[in-house]
Amino acid sequence: MFPKNNSSAADRRRGRGYNTVTENMHEVSRMNGEKQRPLVNYHTHTWRCQHAGGTEEMYVRRALGQGFKVLGFADHTPWPYESGYVAGMRMRLDQLEDYLATVRALGEQYAGQIRIPVGLECEAFPHYFGWLSELKEKSLNYLILGNHYDLRDDADHDAFDEGGGFYFGRCTKPAHIRRYAQRTIEGMRTGLFDYVAHPDLYCHVYRQFDADCVAAARDLCQAAVALDIPLEYNLLGIQYHARPQERDALGYPCAGFWEVAAQYGCKAIIGFDAHQPEHLDRVDLFDGALEFLTGLGIEVLPWLPGLGPQ
Ligand SMILES: [Zn+2]
Ligand SMILES: [Zn+2]
Repeated sequence: MFPKNNSSAADRRRGRGYNTVTENMHEVSRMNGEKQRPLVNYHTHTWRCQHAGGTEEMYVRRALGQGFKVLGFADHTPWPYESGYVAGMRMRLDQLEDYLATVRALGEQYAGQIRIPVGLECEAFPHYFGWLSELKEKSLNYLILGNHYDLRDDADHDAFDEGGGFYFGRCTKPAHIRRYAQRTIEGMRTGLFDYVAHPDLYCHVYRQFDADCVAAARDLCQAAVALDIPLEYNLLGIQYHARPQERDALGYPCAGFWEVAAQYGCKAIIGFDAHQPEHLDRVDLFDGALEFLTGLGIEVLPWLPGLGPQ
């Protein structure tokens, strides 16, 4: 049976303690002056991941200039590799302490102006779930699940086998997509993650939103509703997709995926996935996303529970 979104948005909210953007408009227009929506972002990177630029404070000042009320940092997590692997797209484990201290210090420095929670963007690597859980408990405000690799990344990113390592941003076959959905759902089930970043990453270079894409979207969305995990509408993906070499691919965010998300009654949160301070200037994309999602009937969370404006 195809699930119907038959409980009203208000019913769902009452049960789970969320407020919608619309409900918060009044409050937010008071906070933001002219602005009619809360500008928040929980997906900000730092230079430590080796493919982002600027200092942490540059992001904060940029956000303040645009009227953001929350700027959460969720840089690509380090992993305690037993293989001695050094990843090219994440911080090293020995940089974690400095990352946490830097973001926390900014949170204190700018208290009262903007809330700056500290988190990490992590893959669903079961081998490290225990480590991650302890780290979250001890040192982090939140975690987002950005499932870039299959099981591990200290392995060949092009090989698709049981050992893992495959890069999910290059799914070209139905089997790749099925694996992405399966692994991502396993991650969601841990209860560690506050939202799923770019859940439609599997569409990045895939050419057509075919039956396999639909099936993966259904599985992911069904899990998101059952586990009450918001899905991120990723604004950086829109900018990637504008690149000439990617125009023939589906890209993400993928409209087909979000239509399925609407049918299932998923909750969304908008993420800038900022890798440069200027990425936070794309408030036009934020507003476009809000319009697109609400047009589909998707509930957009104004902020993560417990991590809203101060
Ligand atoms: Zn990145
Ligand atoms: Zn990211």
